[in-house]
Amino acid sequence: METLFRRRETFPVRCGNVVIGGDGPVSIQTMTKTDTRDAEATLSQVNRCVEAGADIVRVAVPDMEAAQALRQVKEGAKCPIVADIHFDYRLAIEALKAGADKVRINPGNIGGMDNLLKVAREASERGAAIRIGVNSGSVEKEILAKYGGPTPEALVESAERSIRFLEDHGVGNIVISLKSSSVRATVSAYLLMAERTRWPFHIGITEAGPGLSGAVKSAAGIASLLTLGLGDTVRVSLTGSPIEEVKTAREILQALEIKSFGPEIISCPTCGRTQVNLIPLAEEIAERLKDIRVPLKVAVMGCPVNGPGEAREADVGVACGRDGGILFKRGKVLGRVSEAEIVNALVRLARETVRKPEV
Ligand code: SF4
Repeated sequence: METLFRRRETFPVRCGNVVIGGDGPVSIQTMTKTDTRDAEATLSQVNRCVEAGADIVRVAVPDMEAAQALRQVKEGAKCPIVADIHFDYRLAIEALKAGADKVRINPGNIGGMDNLLKVAREASERGAAIRIGVNSGSVEKEILAKYGGPTPEALVESAERSIRFLEDHGVGNIVISLKSSSVRATVSAYLLMAERTRWPFHIGITEAGPGLSGAVKSAAGIASLLTLGLGDTVRVSLTGSPIEEVKTAREILQALEIKSFGPEIISCPTCGRTQVNLIPLAEEIAERLKDIRVPLKVAVMGCPVNGPGEAREADVGVACGRDGGILFKRGKVLGRVSEAEIVNALVRLARETVRKPEV
């Protein structure tokens, strides 16, 4: 039990002002969905992601124009920028010259080890990091033949081959990702890889899908890995906006109590005892408290009988009844408020509690 959540020991890898691995906190990444050649639109999306909570943002670099546009993105970006490269190592070199803090390389499609080494050396000289990003769609043919498909062992062998090669040539500052769209295969691959290296892990489930199913699949994979202590930087991939990806990543980290981004609303699921329309009430309270940036557990419960007891661990809360609600703070009942006053009273209590934390 005591090994759960204990993060695997890793080498620290610097990516701009963010440390991935080592003693660095688990960071959140996302990827822009704009055309990188449109530097203005890309920069604006990068900074909106940062406002939403991203620590690092990656941009696609499909051609030289995109690599050059990176310079402008980098100048205005409020976070480190990663260049995502496929097929042409020269794009990675150009992106590094434009100021990329890290390049993501897929060793299966970069045209051989010599090209990989050129990129890694350029990154090294500039103090940038390199991610060896293996995914199930691009494992080298001979490795696929050896394992009969993109199995976890195949992903690990593909990544290990590149990592050992870089290490043998004196290059470090490596981050590793092994992504599959299968949660089980992804978790198995990282578990195997953890026995073989101390470079930090970028984790996520690739092509997780849209909306709720994508968020749940990402959460299942990312949370499984983090519970095992595996994962130093997190990317949720959704068929949706990068802001949603960042918010989903934040929710996963907050739910696992790895990081706190503000109030956690503990609201009951409602049942036959519920005496108020709880769902809009809980939503309004969450909305009114979303500017708070410190940890705070706020309970919104549907009945006075079980509410305070079920939400005992909350910092502040309300248990709603037929004619109003009972306010409580850390399990202690403070008094009664009318139904019309529930939201205002709880928001006021929450803000007072944030200003005067109990020691
Ligand atoms: S707090 Fe009350 S209303 Fe809410 S689920 Fe529990 S028993 Fe039902």
